[in-house]
Amino acid sequence: MASGMARKITPIVVGNWKMNGTRRSATEVNRLIGGLKKMPHPVCNVMLCPPATLIGDFAKLSKRTRLQVGAQDCHVDTAGAHTGDVSTEMLHDAGARAVIVGHSERRRDHGESNADIHDKVQAAWRVSLTAIVCVGETRVERNAKRTLQIITRQLSASLPATMDGDVMIAYEPVWAIGAARTPTPVAIREVHEHIRKRLNLRFGLRQGDRIPILYGGSVTANNAGQMASIEQVNGVLVGGASLKYRDFLKIIYAFSAP
Ligand code: PEP
Repeated sequence: MASGMARKITPIVVGNWKMNGTRRSATEVNRLIGGLKKMPHPVCNVMLCPPATLIGDFAKLSKRTRLQVGAQDCHVDTAGAHTGDVSTEMLHDAGARAVIVGHSERRRDHGESNADIHDKVQAAWRVSLTAIVCVGETRVERNAKRTLQIITRQLSASLPATMDGDVMIAYEPVWAIGAARTPTPVAIREVHEHIRKRLNLRFGLRQGDRIPILYGGSVTANNAGQMASIEQVNGVLVGGASLKYRDFLKIIYAFSAP
């Protein structure tokens, strides 16, 4: 378990199902909920972000359980002529309690900028959704030793000036996502400490210190224990390994162990 300042924050494990899952996946979610019920206390916070089509179903399944449901993206407007988009009001109505914004796959596939992400954070806060803001460098940027510079820019341009809602930061090195490789624990710690410093500078110690900083990128049942032991890692954002309830439970367990 992380120590020092990080102890003030209850760890959270968030699963990002990306474009995977159908209504049949309810079986997997029920197994996950069953596993959570059997887990010894205390259990960390747990959230699953399925495709928008499944948020309503999963929110019903997870009522009065330890599982929360989140979304993977949102539009900035409340309603209107935006074919194919979903507003935060709709996500909230379907049962989501958080929304991931600025995932590198959205930046890549949809050309999302830091300014877009800034507006999405405000859209999330409009309906009291927690915004899970993703930041992270590419392989080229890491090799050029520009990681901290990139993260600084992403944070300052995508976070609103005042904290008018709940936020989490997910540090997701783009080159580690779905790649079966991760930065070293020392490298993860360095970036998380940098993010913490920037948050404290921006929002002051009282607010900055309370913001969970998650690591994401090839987290598995095998390396979750190591991730949980890194100072300043307050949880993880998990892609592929969240699709199998047994693996996901092992990751949750690693962040729940006393
Ligand atoms: C992600 O896409 O947020 C992610 C971390 O993916 P994976 O765990 O599969 O690397």
